[in-house]
Amino acid sequence: MEKLNLLLNINPNYIIIALLVIFYTLEQVTNTPFKFNKRPQHLLQNFQLFVLFFAANFFFATFQVFCIEWLNNQHVGLFYLFHVPFWIKLIVGVAFYDVTAYWIHRSTHKVPLLWRFHRVHHSDTKVDSSSFFRFHPIELILVFGMGNILTAAIFGTDVLSMVLYYFILNIFLFFEHSNLKYPTWLDRTLGWIFVTPNMHKVHHDQDQDYTDSNFADILILWDRLFGTYKYKPVKNIRYGLMEFDEDKKQTSWYLLKSPFINFKRINSDELASIKKTETNNIPISDIKE
Ligand SMILES: [Zn+2]
Ligand SMILES: [Zn+2]
Repeated sequence: MEKLNLLLNINPNYIIIALLVIFYTLEQVTNTPFKFNKRPQHLLQNFQLFVLFFAANFFFATFQVFCIEWLNNQHVGLFYLFHVPFWIKLIVGVAFYDVTAYWIHRSTHKVPLLWRFHRVHHSDTKVDSSSFFRFHPIELILVFGMGNILTAAIFGTDVLSMVLYYFILNIFLFFEHSNLKYPTWLDRTLGWIFVTPNMHKVHHDQDQDYTDSNFADILILWDRLFGTYKYKPVKNIRYGLMEFDEDKKQTSWYLLKSPFINFKRINSDELASIKKTETNNIPISDIKE
């Protein structure tokens, strides 16, 4: 218990910076699935979004902890209906935060207003360790942040299991996004229970049939259970969103204002016909509503 407390007391920002240094360096020195120029600029664009989130979350994190502790004090949620041993409560609590995030993530793909914010994460044409940072701050706070309060309200989970959840989540997200060659045997073993990097990369494919799959962050069990699991070899994946496929739409300033710009979402059939047009060398005009 003491060791766990020591671990969870480490400032999560130090862990994130350490993970970035490790994965970014590995991407630089190993034989990666794809290479691209201007890596520092790409990192900077994505990191700028995170800095804004960090500043705004300073207040929200306190509010979140206050709400969860208040709910716990009122004995609200499933855990308060039974006597649950400490360790079970901790581990199952992490799974409960993860399953709520699964459903919230799934709804960000289905509800047009939420997709406007979530597409910032999917617009990255060069998915790598820096994609960890590429989320619209409003989405992280208002959508996923509120999701944790909802988890506590439904299941009675506490702040400690939320801290453990984020500890595990941050490690998973760096593994999942890093531009590293991961063996496929991972998918056939651990991949029955956990999200493997190759599985999350399917979620970043341009083709909506695949974008709308593999929503889980830690446990792929949720996708397997709720029928949204899909697999595609990494070499066949093309990252990003066709509607953001221009350099000027990849800057942090553009991404920040993009939820307030109308784009028609390109579905699988439209993508196939655009690709056909591309091969015929006809220029694609700006696809806007
Ligand atoms: Zn998504
Ligand atoms: Zn992702």
